Amino acid sequence: MALIVQKYGGTSVGNVERIQNVANKVSKFVKDGHQVVVAVSAMSGETNRLTSLANVITSEPSRREMDVLLTTGEQVTIALLSMALQNIGHEAISYTGWQVPISTNNIHSKARIESIDGDKIKSQLNQGKVVVVAGFQGMSEYGDITTLGRGGSDTTAVALAAALNADECQIYTDVDGVYTTDPRVVPEAKRLDVITYDEMLELASLGAKVLQIRSVEFASKYKVPLRVLSSMKEGGGTLLISEKDFEESDMEKPLISGIAFSRDEAKLMILGVPDKPGVAFQILGPISDANIEIDMIIQNQGQDGTTDFTFTLSRSELSAAKAVLEATAAKLGAREVLSDDTIVKISMVGIGMKSHSGIASNMFKTLADNNINIQMIGTTEIKISVIIEEEGLETAVQALHAAFELDK
Ligand code: ADP
Ligand code: ASP
Ligand code: MG
Repeated sequence: MALIVQKYGGTSVGNVERIQNVANKVSKFVKDGHQVVVAVSAMSGETNRLTSLANVITSEPSRREMDVLLTTGEQVTIALLSMALQNIGHEAISYTGWQVPISTNNIHSKARIESIDGDKIKSQLNQGKVVVVAGFQGMSEYGDITTLGRGGSDTTAVALAAALNADECQIYTDVDGVYTTDPRVVPEAKRLDVITYDEMLELASLGAKVLQIRSVEFASKYKVPLRVLSSMKEGGGTLLISEKDFEESDMEKPLISGIAFSRDEAKLMILGVPDKPGVAFQILGPISDANIEIDMIIQNQGQDGTTDFTFTLSRSELSAAKAVLEATAAKLGAREVLSDDTIVKISMVGIGMKSHSGIASNMFKTLADNNINIQMIGTTEIKISVIIEEEGLETAVQALHAAFELDK
């Protein structure tokens, strides 16, 4: 008998028939003698629907009330799935995040899980029940409802698996594993049988939304055996493993494990600021004080004692950041502040890159051959990222995927 935590995403519970399909899948594991905890998302489109309702009322809804609103989506699914399980003869019980309880910090809309009390779940499992838990939600120390950020049900599942010391965490979604890139953009993308936590962390942080980054951090930290699978199609999916296990296996290390991209990118430029010590701090200090995260930075030295400074950030924070930067520009006597929200970031990731040169130049050549202009470049040991105009995204990802023979 194993203890398995399963997570079913929005598409997998997108209508009543699919919820019944999930109940049948869960049923098979129970009949095989396993204990099963299921974390579920809201039905597909529901979180967006609720968000747009709020946006009819205000463009800046209170984050606390937004969390109260959005968590209703998952509450619908847990009840329906429990009913579907009961209807096919299983004992099942649903819990919201705060009933478990799943305790988080109090940062509404991007809360972090701090602890999970597994006693109630264990006691229900020991009574032979399937426990169905709402993903994406928790409760702060003040008793307020919180959410874990978009895609947060993945993190609920992995955190539950860690807290309950589960034998495996299975993430069921609308693709049958982790691919070399998003198969919606490159139909030739290949499914990976295994991927290391570190590579998946990079891919997730660079925009591959198949797993929320926090879920991979949890899995890596607590050594949770994590598998990504399809809820519609049979198959072994993709298993996440440690780099040590990878090295001990006789699998060949790929140079590039995947290509990730993010459409949620914007750029701010401040032109003609004095080129002297402390300027970067004067520009970015106020941005950071406003709790705005920035990503890539470029500073160009001019000829006339001035410099231009560019950085990227999430599109959703562009207008707030621009207001802060304009105030700084007035103080510094800068020439101009410009913004652009039509950029995207494409990144190639691979642990094998550490020991290979020439990957960056091959990447730049491929983009040049396809007439795609690179606006910014960033590299680490295991990734290369470029910022380009958004209209080139599909062409660039497809060309890079082919050039690096990721379909082979
Ligand atoms: P769920 O609702 O089940 O959480 P998501 O939409 O959040 O599903 O994540 C699954 C989607 O992630 C896929 O449909 C696919 O378009 C996208 N995706 C992006 N990058 C990858 C990748 N490298 N491998 C697989 N899927 C990817
Ligand atoms: N329903 C939430 C979302 O759409 C959480 C999740 O699905 O993981 O982001
Ligand atoms: Mg998701």
